[in-house]
Amino acid sequence: MLSLAEMKKILLIVLLLFGCAVKQKKPLVIAHRGASGYLPEHTLQATAMAHGFNVDYIEPDIVLTKDDIPIVLHDIYLDKTTNVSDVFPKRKRRDGRYYAIDFTFAEINKLSVHERQGEDGNRYARRFPFQKSSFKIPSLVEYIELIQGMNKSRSKNIGIYIEFKNPKFHREQGKDIVGTMMTVLDQHGYIWGDLPIYIQCFDPSYLKEIRAKYGKRIKLVQLIADNSWAETEVDYDQMMTEKGIAEVATYADAIGPWIYQLLKPDNEKTDYDITELNDFAKKYKLAVHPYTFRVDELPPFVDSKEELLDLLFDDLRVDGLFTDFPDVVLDYLSTKEFED
Ligand code: CA
Repeated sequence: MLSLAEMKKILLIVLLLFGCAVKQKKPLVIAHRGASGYLPEHTLQATAMAHGFNVDYIEPDIVLTKDDIPIVLHDIYLDKTTNVSDVFPKRKRRDGRYYAIDFTFAEINKLSVHERQGEDGNRYARRFPFQKSSFKIPSLVEYIELIQGMNKSRSKNIGIYIEFKNPKFHREQGKDIVGTMMTVLDQHGYIWGDLPIYIQCFDPSYLKEIRAKYGKRIKLVQLIADNSWAETEVDYDQMMTEKGIAEVATYADAIGPWIYQLLKPDNEKTDYDITELNDFAKKYKLAVHPYTFRVDELPPFVDSKEELLDLLFDDLRVDGLFTDFPDVVLDYLSTKEFED
């Protein structure tokens, strides 16, 4: 007869062997705003570099111009990433901001893009030098043509992981950002073809509209913000409850939470708790694609980039990761074994 201790030991060995045999599917590497750790975000140069790294998806954010051209830009404003205040000093609104929606694409073409501006020059000190070289804001069409062109010349099938920004603001300004974006995507084979695409948004009501219109043809991602900085009236704390996640699963394929919503820092920020969000998502068969892995802005509760990647990929087994440094994540994943 085996003792209880021996039985426990055997059970543990069986579990370990079984655990090793169940390989994880290879997580997706999503180039956040292109290879934005190395070149100004959303430029064609940052896009080409991400493509060269052989990521799975490259992420464009979309806003509309005055003449309804979808452009690849993170903010609805132009002032943090371009020289708009030098080129068009009189075109700001009363709040002091320069809105992309107030400019035609021809006007936006006159602007130079630079690294995101922080308090004093670069938001990220170690990145591409502020206001050096020459970069432009691309239209969505130019952006897609670059990716599809490189897919052809490099024999790849790298996808786009597109976010339409602040649809409520666009609607209030008389613009249909979803319809305009879907038309361009359709013209380039992303809706009825089989090109790889995800569509993401923070506002659930517009994702629900897309699901109702297009069914499950296109994978949809519900982004999750923090209520303190959200641009919508959505209650993200409620969304992160089991009930909220069950509801998300009725119209989306994945969630895009902030890393800190999976690994919640304690008050001193030196330690963290694993929240229930990841388990809820897995229970309701939602993929989990957190944002954003940055080697130059690691959470204070980890000592190294590897530690954070271990937490995300080994402990939480996330299905994808947004990153400004796609090569770092790809290098890390190349040391691991995944399902074929
Ligand atoms: Ca985005």
